[in-house]
Order: sequence, then structure tokens, then C-alpha cells
Amino acid sequence: MTKPKVTVVGSINMDLTVSTPVIPKQGETVLGDRFATYPGGKGANQAVAASRLGADVRLIGAVGEDAFGDELARHLESEGIGLSGLTKLPEISTGTATIILCEQDNRIIVAPGANAEVTPEYVESMRALIKDSDILLVQLEIPMETIRKVAELAEEYQIPLVVNPAPYHDLPKEVLEIATFLTPNESEAVLLNEALDADFQDKCVTTKGALGVEVTLNGEKVIVPGYRVPVEDTTGAGDTFNGALVTRIALGYSLEEAVQFANAAAALSITKEGAQSGMPTKKEVEMLIE
Ligand code: ATP
Repeated sequence: MTKPKVTVVGSINMDLTVSTPVIPKQGETVLGDRFATYPGGKGANQAVAASRLGADVRLIGAVGEDAFGDELARHLESEGIGLSGLTKLPEISTGTATIILCEQDNRIIVAPGANAEVTPEYVESMRALIKDSDILLVQLEIPMETIRKVAELAEEYQIPLVVNPAPYHDLPKEVLEIATFLTPNESEAVLLNEALDADFQDKCVTTKGALGVEVTLNGEKVIVPGYRVPVEDTTGAGDTFNGALVTRIALGYSLEEAVQFANAAAALSITKEGAQSGMPTKKEVEMLIE
């Protein structure tokens, strides 16, 4: 089977995690436990998911000319992701998410760094790569003007576009019109539905955790049920779902079949620790489905 060409335009971060028994109060220093770094960012996560599931993935994005940028580029390459759309920018840091893990009270600071420099002009310079794609996938961790530009190119070349509205921001009407599918989770869907005309609601592929996914098939809203699995770490379930969904749609599967496959991939991802490290291969998903 030939590999579908999936182009992801999105964020690339290094996640810096530190676990601590207590959150420091204002002006206080505390001793934490374990510190670790993990590759992250929704764009990179979804690209890795699609690559492991059999897509020929190209990631359009930016990192800084720093140690994290070098490490992330090497990592993406080792995942088989095409880097002709990746740029290393001087004088700006690679995007980071600093995550304080404290029992149930996690706190996160995202510093977008180079992700904020993925501009419409940069995407324009990648026009040839976009044109040569079977499907396009974006999330909202890069500037909204850039999302709009990707949508314009999707329309110009008649390439399907999946928009994962995470983290939630209001989307321009033009993007809603051009998007083939929108993939909110339940809380994003509440915000999105407030902004959506009824016509656009049929485009929503809404993930609902363990329940599965709500989708409109033949004009009717139905639930495509999720898979029952032992939960280890739900981080990255949504990203795995999106990477899997676009891969199967690009291969020509029906929406229902693509959602079933993506449910299985996302379910497997939560049986293991970590966002990217828990993402399954195509073989593993096929074994669960059979
Ligand atoms: P996250 O932020 O944890 O990555 P999300 O909020 O973006 O996730 P969810 O709707 O929670 O998205 O999950 C995405 C998909 O992952 C679900 O539609 C489902 O297929 C799968 N999934 C999530 N949680 C479970 C679970 N407990 N059991 C089985 N499948 C699950």
C-alpha cells in the first residue's frame, strides 16, 4: 500500500516536567523530585502519531537554534518525519512547556518561542510541499493568521483539511467553511458550538474520552464507541486520535472506519506512559481492531 502524504502545520515543543510534593508559594523555593524532558507540542505529537500509523508525514514548523531545537529535529527524523518544512530560527528559543507535576494540581506554562514565528509568509514559502499533500492537519498552537493561510491553500488545491481546535480559540468563518472536519474534545465542542452555524456542526468529529466519538453520518449524529482499555496515562490521546484519523481518511477509508481506527489508536496510547512514547504502531492498532 502506498503511504498517504500527511502534512502537519503546527507546534513543536520540549516539555520540561518536574514533580514536586508541594507547589512553591510566592517567593518560596522548594525541593522537587524528578526532572525530565519529553518531546511535545500538538503539531509534533500528531505528526509522530501519523508516522507510526503508516503515513508519509511532513511537519511544517519552527524551532530555535538551540540545544532543544537540535534534539527535537533529531527526534522527529528518527520517527521518520520529513523535515523539509522545518526551520531553525536564530535569536528565538524553541517552544517549551514547563510542567509542574504535583499530585492532582498540575501547573503548566507554555512559552511558544519559535512556534509564534510560523507565519503565513513561512507557509507560503512551503506552498509546493502543501500542494503535494493528500491531507492537511492543523492545531491552534501557531498564529491564527497562519491557520487561515493553510485553509486558503487547502481550498486552492482542493486538499482535505482537518482542524483540531486545541487549545480553543475562535476560528475565522473562512476556516470553518474550508475545513473538511473539526475535531474538538468535549469542552472545546461546547465553545465551538456556541460559535457554529448548524451547517458547520455536521463537520464536527467530537472526541468524548472513554465514550468514543460523536460524529454525523448520513445526516444523523451517532456515537462511534471507544475501546475499553486499562488507563495508564491519558496524555496524548487526542493527539493520537487526530494523527490516526487523518492517516485513514487520506487512505480513502470512510469517516466511520477512520474514526473506529482512530479510537483504537487513541485507546492504545492511554495504556502507556507519556504522550509520544505511548503512541502505537499500525500493527498494534490492527491487532486491537481484529
Ligand atoms: P487529551 O487531552 O487527554 O489528549 P482530549 O481531551 O483531547 O485528550 P479525549 O476526548 O479525552 O480527548 O480523548 C480522545 C480519544 O481518545 C477518545 O475519543 C477515545 O477514542 C480515546 N480515549 C480517551 N480516553 C479514553 C479511555 N478512558 N478509554 C478508551 N479510549 C479513550
